[in-house]
Amino acid sequence: MTLDTPHKGYADPALHAQGLYIGGEWRAGGGIPVTDPSTGETLAEVADAGEAEAASAVEAAAAAAPGWRKTPPRQRSEILRRWFTLMTEHAEELALLISLENGKALPDARGEVAYAAEFFRWYAEEATRIGGEFRHTPSGAHNILVDHEPIGIAVLITPWNFPAAMATRKIGPALAAGCTVILKPASETPLTAYAMARLGEEAGVPPGVVNVLTTSNPGPVTSAMLADPRVRKLSFTGSTGVGRTLLAEAAKTVVSCSMELGGNAPFLVFDDADLEAALDGAMVAKMRNGGEACTAANRFYVQAGIHDAFVAGLTERMAGLTLGAGYEDGVQCGPMITDKAVEKIDRLVRDAVEQGAKATTGGAPLDRAGHYYPPTVLQNVPAGLTISREEIFGPVAAISRFETEEEAVSLANDTEYGLAAYVYSRDIMRAMRVGRAIETGMVGINRGLMSDPAAPFGGVKQSGLGREGGVTGILEFMEPKYFAVEF
Ligand code: NAP
Repeated sequence: MTLDTPHKGYADPALHAQGLYIGGEWRAGGGIPVTDPSTGETLAEVADAGEAEAASAVEAAAAAAPGWRKTPPRQRSEILRRWFTLMTEHAEELALLISLENGKALPDARGEVAYAAEFFRWYAEEATRIGGEFRHTPSGAHNILVDHEPIGIAVLITPWNFPAAMATRKIGPALAAGCTVILKPASETPLTAYAMARLGEEAGVPPGVVNVLTTSNPGPVTSAMLADPRVRKLSFTGSTGVGRTLLAEAAKTVVSCSMELGGNAPFLVFDDADLEAALDGAMVAKMRNGGEACTAANRFYVQAGIHDAFVAGLTERMAGLTLGAGYEDGVQCGPMITDKAVEKIDRLVRDAVEQGAKATTGGAPLDRAGHYYPPTVLQNVPAGLTISREEIFGPVAAISRFETEEEAVSLANDTEYGLAAYVYSRDIMRAMRVGRAIETGMVGINRGLMSDPAAPFGGVKQSGLGREGGVTGILEFMEPKYFAVEF
């Protein structure tokens, strides 16, 4: 495969792949164009799987399952560890590929590759630590023995915003647990997934243990896989809307679901916060991936005493960012994934401004090729607007003022989502109290970045079900089996 773009650096043939990866074989094909969001140019075309190919992938995963399940944990661990090493060795090419198909700035893409690879290293370590449980019954007369078994074939569906990390966060624990998988990456960013599959092959992943397919028809293709009784797990990362549809679909065969869905993170700054630290954290929480992150700070609530200084500081920092093609030197904010994404951001910003918000920088789409929206700060955003209810998924910081702690907590919880929240205060007692009162799965206390392979990542309310990463992440791919033992 060659990429018909002038973007050099993407020259490592080891990473080039466009065909479906099923049972350890590459099935050539085309049909789904992959574009560079910086320019709109077509980068490549990848194969388009239908229901027949989905059935083949399930067959391949089923054929490989008994062998993989019996592979000693140490051996599974070493394969994952080699995959980590290979990703690290190819970090620069992978980062460029992510930047090319997703648009994110290279520093963000490099950060993603390091983060993504860490899931393989973490779960290489966890593979050898799978435990069970032994208890006496309360009567003292019997014994309870609990084993953990691999859950079975897992279908993994990932979004475009972290093409590498969302895949490794699922493949790592699934393989460590002894499951075989079928990965369906997002249509916008399949090249990274295929490149990683190439590296997996080189790392020694046996044929059929990891299968990758792209499709322009995700609904029917996923339904076909879920209808096969051998598929026992669906691990999905994406929007809450698609998550709801998939939960209903999985209900038909009672497939176990892990759901990492949308977010609407509040970012709370109290009067006693360290202003510089809060601004640093705000830039990370808002601008990592140009705002295209589920954990992105979506709503800023700033206490009256620090409000004006925070708005001024954030405006200066946002206005100073360099916008451009993600892979160009010095760029800090790349394009959005599609024109549709830009249109949504524009709609939310326009609505907020019409309702009384004021843009202190940015505030309108740019007249240039590619899907760009400039870093924007809005202040005086009235409560209850669409911009505070929907994911902005772009470089827009919407700021509102609050007076009391109770008001801040109430504003923070006024959403159907519950993924992440951020609290800045020098009073750790207050920060923890507020953190506990906020209904989310994760809280950053004086930190703007919370993702870590060793931590349980996930949300409450309509942000999802289950956790990825950490010591519990592997349990999403295992079933406890209870033995009532007499001895
Ligand atoms: P999306 O539209 O829900 O798509 C996610 C994945 O689902 C893609 O692979 C997509 O395939 C597939 N898909 C779409 N419709 C489907 C269907 N009917 N059946 C089966 N699969 C289907 O989400 P996105 O726009 O890619 O990603 C952004 C969203 O992901 C945001 O809401 C963000 O908050 C969320 N997210 C959450 C987390 C988390 O950990 N909680 C992390 C990252 C992102 P196609 O690409 O072919 O449409």
